Amino acid sequence: VFDPITLVAGAGILTAGTLLGRIRRRTTAAPSPVPTCGCGHPMALHDRDSDECFADEQRPHYSKSGSRNGFEWVQCPCRRYLGPDHIADVWVPPSATMRPQED
Ligand SMILES: [Zn+2]
Ligand SMILES: [Zn+2]
Repeated sequence: VFDPITLVAGAGILTAGTLLGRIRRRTTAAPSPVPTCGCGHPMALHDRDSDECFADEQRPHYSKSGSRNGFEWVQCPCRRYLGPDHIADVWVPPSATMRPQED
């Protein structure tokens, strides 16, 4: 069933598709070499069991009087919660696309 020509053509189409996909991705958004979490840190920095993010974040530090006093480093509060906002990005409820016809 799989003759060499079909295989080569198929491989070529796959390669072309991959290249096109890469080019298109490069023009629309910055390529992300590693999968990132919703907090913006790489998924690799998240604990597999507790989902805790080990990355540190720089935050403005305020003194007791309320004036800004440089920066402090705190651990990212993320627990890899991808939440309803994230799901809404990929899943559209049918009611949103199937509107009743108005005449
Ligand atoms: Zn995270
Ligand atoms: Zn994080």
